[in-house]
Amino acid sequence: MMPVLPIQSITTSKECLHLGRLIVLTGPSGVGKGTLMRSLLQRHPELYYSVSATTRSPRPGEIDGKNYYFISQSKFKQLVAEGEFLEWAEFAGNYYGTPRQAVLNQIHSGKLVVLEIELEGARQIRVSFPSVLSIFILPPSFDELEKRIRDRAQDSEEAIARRLCRAQEEIKAADEFDLQIVNDDFETALNDIETALFK
Ligand code: 5GP
Repeated sequence: MMPVLPIQSITTSKECLHLGRLIVLTGPSGVGKGTLMRSLLQRHPELYYSVSATTRSPRPGEIDGKNYYFISQSKFKQLVAEGEFLEWAEFAGNYYGTPRQAVLNQIHSGKLVVLEIELEGARQIRVSFPSVLSIFILPPSFDELEKRIRDRAQDSEEAIARRLCRAQEEIKAADEFDLQIVNDDFETALNDIETALFK
């Protein structure tokens, strides 16, 4: 007869998840992932939001260590070489990465850990954590997405063009994800995410 293993020793992925769970939230730039994330964290402070490192410059109001760790390209490359990222990717001319150790510690302590990352990173996470719950946020339409990016007025015309081009690629990959949620009505989208996470 098979011995019954204590739950702590069950390996559920290549990265050895114990009790916690990893959630990946992806979607094109401007779709409203950030706002959904903030509301989710306000309503569920028990969630752990992984703060990424980026080589992008801070936007007005963004705080180092809260929104991102804003670091130089050379520092980013050094961290990549040292294996400090769980995943990383280039996006619209900048690099973004998820700090490995902080996330693993939180998962091992039983937390629900949420990563808000782009498509390439989500794909890397799926390889190392096959049990990840991956959610893709879709805009109601491409025109609406462009309007949201422009209304945000935070990016140059060149950056907007690059983000829209990347958005088309990302949307094509939406069905790689476990769940697709359209962010048309904000409350509905938020409730859909909560249902996926907690019910
Ligand atoms: P933004 O510059 O608008 O803050 O982010 C650009 C894109 O990078 C967004 O799609 C965001 O989800 C993604 N992103 C943020 N942090 C990470 C990360 O650590 N890894 C990856 N792969 N993408 C990230």
